[in-house]
Amino acid sequence: MAENLDWSNLSFGYIPTDYNVRCYYRNGSWGELEISSTDTVNLHMAATCLHYGQEAFEGLKAFRGKDGKIRIFRMDENAKRLQSSAAGLLMEKFPVEKFKEAVIQAVKLNERFIPPYESGASLYIRPLLIGISPRVGVSPSEEYLFLLFVTPVGPYFKGGFQTTPFVILREYDRAAPLGTGTYKVGGNYAASLVAGKRAHDMGYSNVFYLDPKEKKYIDECGAANFFGIKNNTYVTPSSTSILPSITNKSLMQLAESMGMKVEHRPVPATELDTFEEAGACGTAAVISPIERIDDIEESKSYVFSKDGKPGPVCTKLYHKLRAIQYGDEADPFGWVTVI
Ligand SMILES: *Cc1c(COP(=O)(O)O)cnc(C)c1O
Repeated sequence: MAENLDWSNLSFGYIPTDYNVRCYYRNGSWGELEISSTDTVNLHMAATCLHYGQEAFEGLKAFRGKDGKIRIFRMDENAKRLQSSAAGLLMEKFPVEKFKEAVIQAVKLNERFIPPYESGASLYIRPLLIGISPRVGVSPSEEYLFLLFVTPVGPYFKGGFQTTPFVILREYDRAAPLGTGTYKVGGNYAASLVAGKRAHDMGYSNVFYLDPKEKKYIDECGAANFFGIKNNTYVTPSSTSILPSITNKSLMQLAESMGMKVEHRPVPATELDTFEEAGACGTAAVISPIERIDDIEESKSYVFSKDGKPGPVCTKLYHKLRAIQYGDEADPFGWVTVI
């Protein structure tokens, strides 16, 4: 193990590890996976990723269990989503099998950076796909670089599982109604920074986005999907501008297996009043329970937790998913790859 790291106090920053894995698409085909020990890339200054945003990424995690085994969560889903993002930006798709090989190689090569079970920390895996051919006019690249690095990240909830407040800011959209919202691409994040900063400056954990067309339906919570709980039902929005979260997909399956109903449909913002609990979900936190959503313009506040504590359903789902990820409980869905 990397001896001098303070595992429990790691932030979501970048800690250098030993190796990263790369693969180039040139002359119409993907090459072999290459192992690199440098953390820089040599790029043409006219590369399409730099000028026209031909860039997509993924995010997943590996966990060290009580049994010492390493588990990677649903990497086939991330591989498929990267293909969907690539198609959305007219980039070359990276093969699913090669993606899985790259993940496993990078995790194994950097094994000493996978935090111990007790720390509640994990190894974050960041795959990246970029267009690297020089172009001055707007057109897709001919050559691509797939790159994958890993870095240890601390537990998301340092002071225990907690709720946070969100805010509706109607003057900003994260993505266009029929734009790139369904793809995991850097451009969507650049487009969300100003709104995110305003929310943070006002003391909120992030922006609560309504649909960009009518501002009538619920879209996302910052860079996380939304779900609400009521009458033993897990409700999560569908829309043409939401990124399909793998955590959300997993929570839907878990909720169903726990005897809840699951509804995946457009959710009008007016329905916020009816939820007993609400949460934001994604790889970083699994679930980030929502304390309240403030709608400043309408002078309204939707409160989901009066004492700041997460509700019972959020808590149950959170612990169940983490138990599967760390190997504390059986994995009936075949979600984890043990290496
Ligand atoms: C990555 C991401 C999520 C969460 O997806 P997971 O697969 O659960 O990590 C949600 N929304 C946006 C916009 C994202 O980029």
